[in-house]
Parts: sequence; structure tokens; C-alpha cells
Amino acid sequence: MLHATKPHRQIVQAGLGTTPDRGILQSVWFGIPGNCDLSCPYCFCSTTEIDNDVDNIAWGRPASGGVTHYQYEPYERLIFKPLAEQVRAWNAASPEQRIAAFGCPPENAQTDEVVRGKVAIPGAGEPFHPRNRELVLSLIRSANACGLHMTVFTTGHWIDAALAAELLPMDVVLLVKRNSGKKEVQNALVGRPADHPFFEQREAALQLLMDIGFNKPFGKPGTSEYQETRLGVVTSIMRENIVELESLLCFARKNNIIFDCDTILERGRGGVCRQRLTDKMTECGFKILQRLDKKKFGREWDISSTYVGTACDRHRHHLYVDKRGFIYPCVGCMEDKEHNIDPIVLGNIKDGPHALIAAWKSPIMAKVIRPWRYEGPCKDCSKPEKGICFSCLGRFRDSLVTVTRDSTEPITTIGCWNHTQRHRKQPPK
Ligand code: SF4
Ligand code: SF4
Ligand code: SF4
Repeated sequence: MLHATKPHRQIVQAGLGTTPDRGILQSVWFGIPGNCDLSCPYCFCSTTEIDNDVDNIAWGRPASGGVTHYQYEPYERLIFKPLAEQVRAWNAASPEQRIAAFGCPPENAQTDEVVRGKVAIPGAGEPFHPRNRELVLSLIRSANACGLHMTVFTTGHWIDAALAAELLPMDVVLLVKRNSGKKEVQNALVGRPADHPFFEQREAALQLLMDIGFNKPFGKPGTSEYQETRLGVVTSIMRENIVELESLLCFARKNNIIFDCDTILERGRGGVCRQRLTDKMTECGFKILQRLDKKKFGREWDISSTYVGTACDRHRHHLYVDKRGFIYPCVGCMEDKEHNIDPIVLGNIKDGPHALIAAWKSPIMAKVIRPWRYEGPCKDCSKPEKGICFSCLGRFRDSLVTVTRDSTEPITTIGCWNHTQRHRKQPPK
């Protein structure tokens, strides 16, 4: 079973909340073509059934001509290899070299731990939709061959026995959408009628994955490959499921399944979704889960403002690449036309294999986001210095302030319901 970990962090996503600043890029989320047969009201990328956008990274024609098909090679060449190479060089370096060449903070340079690069497909488009399935299988194989761990967010309902068996030996964690254990609520939360088969298909897929052992430990204990489980359930806290949160958490804990629960990201359809909660309701939802987890499962964690059970620390190890190749500090830094929010674009991987690491070294990442130079309520909050919450670039950044890749001014924040005033040192009298 998953252990109650100190210091108060639950496993939610690979490395989330537990990755130290090593100076290097250690995790990347990337987009795939947006094909998806569902229509979730909170979808941050506003996908459609079929995505024929020729700007997709994966779009390509075979040299011999003929039918256009998706290719995994651009991802391998432009994301996996540059990421893996940087991690490999850091692992091979001495502590002094890590500080001098990679900008690693001295306190994190001396370690016997082998750093593992991590990539994830965040479900901006369903990875196992028939049009994406072969591409995604090739992407997992390629990432693993580069020495990278893979996480895939999925609706689950396209997973059949053949696909599950193919995935089982791979180094992959599957995070399956489970917003509700009630058919009519679940189907509404994927934009489908009450009698749609999604609910049964998803429940059957989860059962199948458990039957074949996805929720069992994987790899050799003590190695960087080891995972206590490779299966998770994912949801946001919403109006329709707030009364069900306890049973959703219990389902996960009892089955050795990761519980990945956050708040709605106000991007894409999420920005106008009526499922968004008031601050009071969000706080109440977090507190209910915190109490339950401690009482019933002996798991203690502090309340951050985005994820249940952990804190987002992606500012110090992460980049996001959208399906067209544009690079951002994280998924919350994409453009939102609906609310006139400008994106923070750091480059485009199509510019070549150097582009990803160049984005990581851009002034805004190196001088502001990674060293956490923030202003406003989040700076005055006690949570960051205690490691409980590091604000959120998507939710609590002041979106009226334009930020570019060359900005060196601190990030302006708006704070949140979880703010606790930091005690200032009194000047000597
Ligand atoms: S399943 Fe994922 S990609 Fe599809 S609509 Fe829902 S959130 Fe968007
Ligand atoms: S900073 Fe916010 S939007 Fe960005 S990855 Fe973390 S939780 Fe998501
Ligand atoms: S005010 Fe900012 S740092 Fe403090 S808890 Fe809220 S989001 Fe986190």
C-alpha cells in the first residue's frame, strides 16, 4: 500500500511536490493531437472530436508520400532526447560541476540519488482515442528507451484487454478520469447524456487494470524506476461531486490507487464552467478530505490551494509543450482568449532540439520563476517558506500583468483563500 509519507506529501503525480531544484529541467508535459469523443465542461484545452490541425507536432507525411499519419519522432528528437541528455549529464557530473555548470543550489548538488527525467501526456486530447492510440504507444516506448518515466492521463474508456496487456510491462503510470461513482453525474461531467455508456466502460477499464496488476508495486525497490502503484484516479473538486469526495478518496486508498484531485484550472472551457466552486466550498472540500485521510488512513498532509495531498512545485523543474510545439512554464500559462489572458510563451520546439533547454534557460525561468521571485499576497504568505504552497501560475498569477520570456520582474500574484500572513521580523528597537 502507499505509505503515509513525511513530510506530509502524498503521491499524486510523478515527482510532484517532491522534486528538489537541481538547476536542470526534470519534467515535461506535452500535448498530442486533440482527438477526443467526450466534451467535459471544464476541459482546459477545449478539444473537439477530430483534430485535423496540420500544426500538430505529430503531423507528418511519409517520405514516400501517401496518407498523412502521426509520427512520434518529432517528440523524441525535440523533447525526449534533449531532456534525457540534460538529466544524464547532471547525473554524471560532480557536485562542483552541478553547481557551476547547471546552476544547482549547493544544498541539492550532493546526492547519491539518480535523477530520473519524467514526461507526461496531460490528456489534452484522449491518448487512447483510436486516432491517437498507436502514436501514444510509440511515445511511451520511445520515452522509456530514452530512460524517461511516462505518465498518461486518460478517460480510460478506450482501454481494452489487448491495450492493457501491452501497457503492463511499460514504465508508465495511468491516471484515469473518475469524477464520480454515480452514472448520471459522471456522464454529465464528461458532457454526455445520463444513458451514455462512458460510465460503465470507464469502470470496467479500471477493474481490468486492477485485475492485471496496475495497482501493484512496479520495479525494484530502491531504484529510480520503483513505483508503489501505477494506477490513479483523477478529478477536480466540483459542484456536482463535492458531496462524493469522501467516497472517491476511499475508493482510491482502499485499492492502492493514487488520488489525484485538484481544483478546476480556469483555462479553455474551465474558465466558463459552472462547476467551479466558491472559495468557501473549495476550502470546505479540502478540509473534509484532510480530516478523512488522517482519521481513516493515517495520512497527514497540509492544505495547499491546488492539489489535494501535495503542493505544486513545478516552477523548479518543469515545462509544458502544447500540441503545436509552443513551450510554456506550465499548463496554466497558456493563452485564454475568453478572459483576455496572454500566454507566457518561451519558444517553440519546432525551432530545433536546442529550443526546449533554451526555454528552460530563458530569463523568466532562470531569474524569476525557478528562484521563486514572486510579489503580492503570495509573497506575504507563510505557506511558501514552509513548503506548503508555492502559489500557482495558472490560478493565482495576476493575469493583467503581461509576462514574456525575457521578463525579469517578479511575478505578481493575487493570493487565495488559503493565505496565512507571514510574520515579519521586527526591526531592532
Ligand atoms: S476527456 Fe480530456 S480532452 Fe476530452 S474533453 Fe474531457 S478534459 Fe478534454
Ligand atoms: S503552477 Fe498551477 S497551473 Fe502550473 S502546473 Fe502548478 S498547479 Fe498547474
Ligand atoms: S496566498 Fe498564494 S502562496 Fe499562500 S496559500 Fe494562497 S496561493 Fe499559496
